[in-house]
Amino acid sequence: MIIKPKGCYDLSKFDAKIYLNIEQIVHSYMNVYNYKYIRTPVFENSELFKRGVGETTDIVQKETYDFTDRSGRSLTLRPEGTASVVRSYIENKDYADIRPISKYYYIGTMYRYERPGQGRNREFTQFGVEALGSDDPLIDAEIISLSVNILKELGLDPVVKINNLGGKEDRENYKKALVKYLKPHINDFCSDCQKRIKTNPLRILDCKIDDKNEILKKAPNVLDYQSKESQARFKDVLQYLDYLDVDYEIDSNLVRGLDYYDYMVYELQVDNGLALGGGGRYNNLVKTLDGPDTPAVGFACGIERIINLIKEKAKDFSNIDVFIMAINKEEKMKANIIMQDLRLNGISVETDYLNKGLKSQFKDADKYNAKNLIILNSEDLKKGLINVKDNITKEEVKVPEDEIVDYILGII
Ligand code: AMP
Repeated sequence: MIIKPKGCYDLSKFDAKIYLNIEQIVHSYMNVYNYKYIRTPVFENSELFKRGVGETTDIVQKETYDFTDRSGRSLTLRPEGTASVVRSYIENKDYADIRPISKYYYIGTMYRYERPGQGRNREFTQFGVEALGSDDPLIDAEIISLSVNILKELGLDPVVKINNLGGKEDRENYKKALVKYLKPHINDFCSDCQKRIKTNPLRILDCKIDDKNEILKKAPNVLDYQSKESQARFKDVLQYLDYLDVDYEIDSNLVRGLDYYDYMVYELQVDNGLALGGGGRYNNLVKTLDGPDTPAVGFACGIERIINLIKEKAKDFSNIDVFIMAINKEEKMKANIIMQDLRLNGISVETDYLNKGLKSQFKDADKYNAKNLIILNSEDLKKGLINVKDNITKEEVKVPEDEIVDYILGII
């Protein structure tokens, strides 16, 4: 038997139903917020992620799936969505569009060679947005509230952890202060952080191994190293969030794993501390990838982690509206017609295709989580009546055949 690669999974059955429901909610939210769907290739030239995500990040150093194609090109399965969207924006000259700014969203699989575990896969799916062309804190607040609203619609109540990394100069000043403070103690940190102090010192702040290190708790605070301009724009973001009633916690150790962020960064966390998503501003990335100087902001959320959390509460997603029970040929003929009428009116319907007896069909209706049963019988059909049973309260009513669609629409 051939089995799937480590860290991958098959999306099917109940999980697939929840997944599709999440996709639907994402599409409808993106529509009203006016983000346009974009699909980029699953693999890109390796160079894109090296320059885009950052040569010193864990993702590029340890987690990418790199391969050489038959012509010797160096390619990489995308580990995240932002670099590809920016590449496409530049390559297709979307900055010359008549639209004042470009707002994209995507839903797609990402690939990271990570150790599989709780909420961590090697192939996983993210939905995300990228808004290119505006430096207005209003749009920072928009993407944060959009991500929160989608998760709320899915029954989750995430906490927004937010931080301000500042502009280039602010970050350089802070980096210097942090390195100066940490250097004498660096042997007390994990081996990765001992490397990070040279390559990417800010990442030490949110190291999952060293997060309880007392030395880190007294480290200089990034928020004390912000220029007036950076402080003012962060204040604006927070004020916009206040007005939208979005709860947030300022977390000055939040850095996130991708190099391109500046100014606002945020993460969406739930009770168990697991991040469902996050994002931030990346005003330099378009230029880094040879595009025009373009401010930008975006987020990405992991769908598998969301599925795991809402699975228990999501039983409703697996319901069908109606199970039609029919035994003899005459009843099956009628079922055939009624099913089509109901389905064309958006009602989900299932029936028996195995010629089972009535008792077994009741059991099958429960297996499908049918909310209502239509129990056809020749007697009622002669009178033009349809027997409908609420499968939860067990109440039964007889409905005139020509009113059945409206009746079902009224109770689901
Ligand atoms: P990132 O692109 O690292 O900012 O991650 C954004 C979100 O994607 C995270 O908060 C997770 O929900 C999800 N995610 C990231 N890496 C993985 C993974 N290896 N497996 C499953 N979900 C992931």
